[in-house]
Amino acid sequence: MSLSETADRPSLQTRHFWTDMVCPDCQRCVRACPAGIDIPALLKAEERIQAGEEEEIVKQDWLHRQKEHHARMPIDCIECGICSRRCPQEFPLLELVRRYAMQQACTGAEER
Ligand code: SF4
Ligand code: SF4
Repeated sequence: MSLSETADRPSLQTRHFWTDMVCPDCQRCVRACPAGIDIPALLKAEERIQAGEEEEIVKQDWLHRQKEHHARMPIDCIECGICSRRCPQEFPLLELVRRYAMQQACTGAEER
């Protein structure tokens, strides 16, 4: 199996995660992540955005909580893909983390 996300994982764009699937917060992805990223917190933020909340407000809330808990950030992801492989719900977690990491890289170091 490739070290990157497996090819059979559906994309965030092609599956109705936000209406059909729920994260039971099993923490398997968190326990497996060598970078210590709070992946379910990203999913919860994304769910709020998909439910119609304003993206900027949700992301500011999320960032505030991450800083409060001194959490590692998506930009620390090493792209090993273990989170996606361990998720029983088959969320494309690497894709999600990657998207947030790219946004973080674009908005600068002050968000670290
Ligand atoms: S791909 Fe990134 S977020 Fe997923 S387990 Fe690896 S380091 Fe953690
Ligand atoms: S492994 Fe999947 S279902 Fe479990 S907490 Fe992580 S995202 Fe949610």
